[in-house]
Amino acid sequence: MPEITEAPIACPYCGESISVLVDDSLTQQSYVEDCQVCCRPIVMDVAVDLDGDVTVSARSEDE
Ligand SMILES: [Zn+2]
Repeated sequence: MPEITEAPIACPYCGESISVLVDDSLTQQSYVEDCQVCCRPIVMDVAVDLDGDVTVSARSEDE
């Protein structure tokens, strides 16, 4: 059953904490979402482990 998990990340540009919604039915995904604070594009690398724990790493687009 797909589940939406909220994961906190820190913006790589402005350092603000924002939360993103992750569909944990996909074990590996990567997408771009604009920061809610500074509006710059953050690349999210999402990994879901076997226990269903979601790890999101946020990086800037030009890294
Ligand atoms: Zn930002």
